[in-house]
Amino acid sequence: MAHLISLVVPVFNEEAIILDNLAAILRAASGDWYELELIAVDDGSRDRSTQQIEKAAAIDSRIRCVSFTRNFGKEAAIHAGLANAKGDAVVVLDGDLQHPPELIPQMADYWRKGLFVVEAVKADRGNERMHDGLFAYAFYALFRRFAGLDLRGHSDFKLLDREVVDTYLAFPERQRFFRGIIGWAGYPSAQIPFTVAERAGGATSWSKLKLLRYAINNITSFSSLPLKLVSLLGIGTLAFGGVIGILSLARKFEGKAIDGFTTVNLLVIIIGGAILISLGIIGHYVARLYDEVKGRPAYLIKPSKKNET
Ligand code: UDP
Ligand code: MG
Repeated sequence: MAHLISLVVPVFNEEAIILDNLAAILRAASGDWYELELIAVDDGSRDRSTQQIEKAAAIDSRIRCVSFTRNFGKEAAIHAGLANAKGDAVVVLDGDLQHPPELIPQMADYWRKGLFVVEAVKADRGNERMHDGLFAYAFYALFRRFAGLDLRGHSDFKLLDREVVDTYLAFPERQRFFRGIIGWAGYPSAQIPFTVAERAGGATSWSKLKLLRYAINNITSFSSLPLKLVSLLGIGTLAFGGVIGILSLARKFEGKAIDGFTTVNLLVIIIGGAILISLGIIGHYVARLYDEVKGRPAYLIKPSKKNET
């Protein structure tokens, strides 16, 4: 019996390259013991990516297009791709050929040998700029410290067995970190090193601010340690206050009331800062709770046009 492997490709504003890339991905991913299908998830592109994907689908019937009503983000696109994939295994990869599709037959071989997750890990970070490297380094170091998961070099380029996909889809969680959840799940896995290729045209759509928000959300969705740090901060401030208090009282009983303007100023600033930072951290978690409790879907699929009759 032939196996079906689904390829999930998130697409956002890639009109210049997506038509050729989808064909190139299918060509490179082919193998003789499995069939392929490709789900291109158009994440609310503002250019003509949808039309390009539909064109690709008209040329090659293995390609399907799922379009969002607006931009919901790459995580949502991966989620929708997994939800629409029918394969016995699913491979998630970028649409800009930075995740070399030539690796897919090798990933499939590992899967056939019985592994549930096959991850392509970055041997190096390609020719990404230095400050990106530093940012990523800081993120993975913090993530390791806070969440206890070492994701260094990990990417979203992964093959998942149907079992893993179904488990992933059954999670009630809405705001997800794909890489983190698969790492956390701990299924038997293999790693294949790869070199991040240069982008095959177009430009990255991740601004520094978007990356920072993504990083903070991912850390706090895997760890409540920042909340505990708030208590530590409180204890620290209290201890500091205690020392200052005793010193001030001692001075007063000695009859040497000090010129306390600077001290008071400093205390107000330090305590005010500590309280506001703590509130910010708590506020962040409350916002995350609020988002999850509302239970809105992580994405909405654009309905296909109704026939005019
Ligand atoms: N992408 C997406 N939604 C977004 C941003 C990006 O689906 O809001 C897709 C994009 O089309 C690409 C992949 O995610 O297939 C990786 O994006 P990009 O190449 O811009 O990021 P980088 O490789 O620089 O991390
Ligand atoms: Mg890219």
